[in-house]
Amino acid sequence: MKCALCQGSMLSGKTTLPYETGEEYLVVVKDIPAWVCQQCGDHFVEIKVVREVERIVAAAKQDGVTLGFVKYKKAA
Ligand SMILES: [Zn+2]
Repeated sequence: MKCALCQGSMLSGKTTLPYETGEEYLVVVKDIPAWVCQQCGDHFVEIKVVREVERIVAAAKQDGVTLGFVKYKKAA
């Protein structure tokens, strides 16, 4: 896979993404599988992973988490 910004090569790695789900909500998801550009450091997260992250954020919100970190993990 090539980077959309600089055409550098991308390797599979991990990233951390902050998700604001409203004015009073900020959930940071850690250990998200992503492609990482070796040249410019840009991240690319696959759409199926983004969906999973959205599910995790929604679940955290339901659990009453309004500010914090959650670890990415796939639904069993
Ligand atoms: Zn790049």
